[in-house]
Amino acid sequence: MNASKSYNAQYKQNQRKEAKLSGNCLRCFKAKQIINRTLCKKCLMEQIINESFKYDYNRVKPQSTLARGSCYVEQFKRNDRRRIIDEIVSTFNGKCHYTGLPIEIGSTAGLVFKIPRQHIDVYGPDQVFCSTNFCWCHKSVHGLKGSKTDAEFRTWLIDGFLKNLTNQMSDKVVAAESSSNRNCNSPRVPRNVRIEVRKPFICKPFAWRDPD
Ligand SMILES: [Zn+2]
Repeated sequence: MNASKSYNAQYKQNQRKEAKLSGNCLRCFKAKQIINRTLCKKCLMEQIINESFKYDYNRVKPQSTLARGSCYVEQFKRNDRRRIIDEIVSTFNGKCHYTGLPIEIGSTAGLVFKIPRQHIDVYGPDQVFCSTNFCWCHKSVHGLKGSKTDAEFRTWLIDGFLKNLTNQMSDKVVAAESSSNRNCNSPRVPRNVRIEVRKPFICKPFAWRDPD
């Protein structure tokens, strides 16, 4: 048995134990964990990015696991990947790339390909797996984007989705206004006409006196 390996393993295990007790990240052991997560914000971002760099839909590569059906993009060496991951981490500004809504790592933030992997045959791997092809956006927006490219999605979002939504909302406002006008029975009174408002009858307490 390799003694140094077991020492390292023991050391790592102790580090994990200490980190767990103090609420620190179980990967870097330094920063605080995100609520309900075992990793800190930066390590979780790196994990999300790493997942995005795995692909092999046809599971032809020897390292490809059945569970993920994916493996690392071939053309990247360890250093290249490190640089690209750092670049993508640095683009996070706490806001959705498409809507500007506030997003949080570990809950609402998702990582999106501007040109999705499905288009790799058209654009080539260098255009798809590069740091500028990634953006952080709200997870609900992620679902809407689907396999559309960045340009297609922006057109769809502004000319289709938002326009349709605005029209529907304004239709509803018009319908609500006209129905409220119909329900109002009293005719509208011009501003300069004063209306006499009768004071409500208030029954005051009085002392009873016998009639004379
Ligand atoms: Zn960490």
